[in-house]
Amino acid sequence: MPRRPARWLALALALAGTVTAGAAVVLVTAAQDPAGPENVILLIGDGMGYNHVDAASLYEHGTTYAQVAVDPAAGTVEHLPGTASQVFQHFPVQVAMSTFSADGRAEYDPERAWSDFGWISEGATDSAAAGTALATGVKTNNGVLGLDPSGARVTSVAERAAEVGKATGVVTSVPFSHATPASFGAHNATRGDLHGISDEMIAGPLDVIVGAGHPLYDDDHQPIGTPRFDYLSESSWNALQDGRTSRTFVEDTADFEAMAAGQDVPEQLFGLTQVASTLQQARSGHVEGALPFDVARNDVPSLATLTQGALNVLEQDEEGLFLMVEGGAIDWTGHANETTRNIEETVDFNRAVETVVDWVETESSWDETLVIVTADHETGYLDGSQSDPTWTPITGAEGQLPNEKWFSGNHTNQLVPLFAKGAGSDLLASYATGTDPVRGAYLDNTDVARVAFESWGHEDAATSS
Ligand SMILES: [Zn+2]
Repeated sequence: MPRRPARWLALALALAGTVTAGAAVVLVTAAQDPAGPENVILLIGDGMGYNHVDAASLYEHGTTYAQVAVDPAAGTVEHLPGTASQVFQHFPVQVAMSTFSADGRAEYDPERAWSDFGWISEGATDSAAAGTALATGVKTNNGVLGLDPSGARVTSVAERAAEVGKATGVVTSVPFSHATPASFGAHNATRGDLHGISDEMIAGPLDVIVGAGHPLYDDDHQPIGTPRFDYLSESSWNALQDGRTSRTFVEDTADFEAMAAGQDVPEQLFGLTQVASTLQQARSGHVEGALPFDVARNDVPSLATLTQGALNVLEQDEEGLFLMVEGGAIDWTGHANETTRNIEETVDFNRAVETVVDWVETESSWDETLVIVTADHETGYLDGSQSDPTWTPITGAEGQLPNEKWFSGNHTNQLVPLFAKGAGSDLLASYATGTDPVRGAYLDNTDVARVAFESWGHEDAATSS
């Protein structure tokens, strides 16, 4: 495809300066935070693009926040008036983020991204490279966890947090050893080496590991006769069952709920929900066109409950905490082009964000805690176009499925939203030096880890002096 003339970009950039609510904006608050964050909580909607967020908001509230109509031939960018309906849409820092990996597109080109609908579909990052970038600040190749492109080990913010005495954890709605949580607790050239990854995570410094991947249950929360060690090695499973690790093993829904209520909170936790691959997304009974939550749900804890339990464990550490919460199955619905379950998963993720915000405001404060809500990439190329792919707003009404369509079964290279509030959020905003003609200021996924490393250090000074 030929490149569009530069006039289009210049015009679009000019138009981007006139945007209204809902567009990417940076509203830097007066409060400064020289000491940086004591606590960092990073919530990642896996595969959650701008339109995924708005699809769930349409269903929940009948509102959208970041809808755009873009016509590159005419050189026009129209931002629809937006309504903030999710708690993170009130955060002071709202920017876009590029997600490319070291061996994919290896770039984000704002002009091409908005002049050729197909360009964005090729060469996208996978969740391993994206997770590694978010966790370590280093770009790597697709499929690789916690190593740079040369194979050298790189330190994650979770590992650094543990080194400086903080409690650390990961919580996800998909298997705990899947790419995103594994990016914070493993170093492996092959994301598919799930046994090696699970062994490393369980033996490693993370104080809390919670997710799906139970060897004795199917996707409908039903016991199976023969264990399936798909996501967890049999040796680690046996060690956990025999009490040969320092971790308290929790699997019952009632026990997770008690922990979320502050009862029987352990020092170190390995929580495995009684489902095979996802909390809810892979359960039986999916009917496209059904409304979200119409199909009976598995009786397992919600992502929000798991998040509250994790916070109750981690807050026992006086030195602070690092927690990553992943809405992992948002991505799985994108790959499957499942509109109904995409909304369910994004709504569940929204509730987890609310749990975190409540925790900050009751147990901590915005002066000591940084909360970041973002995605690792977009999945499914969700758009409001009904036939030919164009950049068309999605529409809909509360309680209904939106008017939207999937244009990919894979990841895309488009910018994703990032929302931040609290200690260090000004610094994070200052990294957003890129300018996109539609989304405005953007930073890169490697910038997220920089905030924590800036205040916690990247390694101990003794080793470099
Ligand atoms: Zn992903």
